[in-house]
Amino acid sequence: MRSFKFPSFVATVSACFVALASTPTSSHAQPDPNYLDHDRTRPQPPVIIGATASTQESPGKPPSDATVLFDGKDLSQWVALDGSPTKWITRDSYMECVKGSGYVRTLQNFGDCQLHVEWASPVPPHGEGQGRGNSGVFLGLDRYEIQVLDSYGSQTYPDGTAAAIYGQYPPLVNASRPPGEWQIYDIIYTAPRFKADSTLASPVHLTVFHNGVLVQNNVQLTGPTSWLERAPYEPHPQKQPISLQDHGNPVRFRNIWVRELGPAGKKEFTFPTTLLDNYVGHYTSADRNRVEITRENSQLVARLSGVRFLLFAESPTKFFAKTTDVQIEFPSGVQDKADRLTWSVGEGANEAKRDQ
Ligand code: MG
Repeated sequence: MRSFKFPSFVATVSACFVALASTPTSSHAQPDPNYLDHDRTRPQPPVIIGATASTQESPGKPPSDATVLFDGKDLSQWVALDGSPTKWITRDSYMECVKGSGYVRTLQNFGDCQLHVEWASPVPPHGEGQGRGNSGVFLGLDRYEIQVLDSYGSQTYPDGTAAAIYGQYPPLVNASRPPGEWQIYDIIYTAPRFKADSTLASPVHLTVFHNGVLVQNNVQLTGPTSWLERAPYEPHPQKQPISLQDHGNPVRFRNIWVRELGPAGKKEFTFPTTLLDNYVGHYTSADRNRVEITRENSQLVARLSGVRFLLFAESPTKFFAKTTDVQIEFPSGVQDKADRLTWSVGEGANEAKRDQ
């Protein structure tokens, strides 16, 4: 076992803080100055198989490099907002909102991404305005909504119509299909960036195609979408779950896939707080190094020798920090309180036992 080397560890931490407000992978990228024009030494783009088109009768195939979030079979990638099993149902290759069951969210977190979602509002239509086939596609957990609504021959306030950025931007056109028909959103999301002092470095950008038509052209959000207020940005980790809204109407979804944009990193997940709470506590190693684990919302926080780290989950038992190469692992199959953990900083591992 390698012991914890405090000075080099702190140096690593401080070096990494400057990278906290990383640059968005948005449309404002510049040509790479490391390559000449038409430079043949430049890496070739990865080869993939593109998506195929959907029809009303059947969904198309996702691109070969997509993360498939729902293929019509099961809800294994979806949970309620608090991480418990969702009460939404699957039937005939689609999933359907069950009134009163709450939002569904992905277990996995996503930052900048391309997101494909197909949805259908109830037929025969029921209700008017905001009460007619209302749901929503949210990025940033439950913060940034692209409205889902039956807006075919039905009017409401323009910034609440189908494909609106709710409360902020009406769509450029109303490309809605009749209720019961499958409709498609193709969404490009650039997550917000926050500085180390928690102020905003760059806002959310969204581009949306509705049934193949551009309806949101790289708009900048003023903050989270909400009803009758302009809520300010509040800092949050760049990668968050994607969620679908329960607005009390049985809206259906199928063929949901996502492609992460930007550098490939570790997969991240948001697990139920009931699991995370099993890990909260104080742990001490044989050489008297102390590790404190706490929870803030859906995230674990570690304190090692007085230095605080946000921990990100790559599995139900493995967590990592982004500001240094700290990794923490708990035993698998913990039903109550974990009795120990192992941590590493770079190579080697150190075990610490829960304080009695
Ligand atoms: Mg909605």
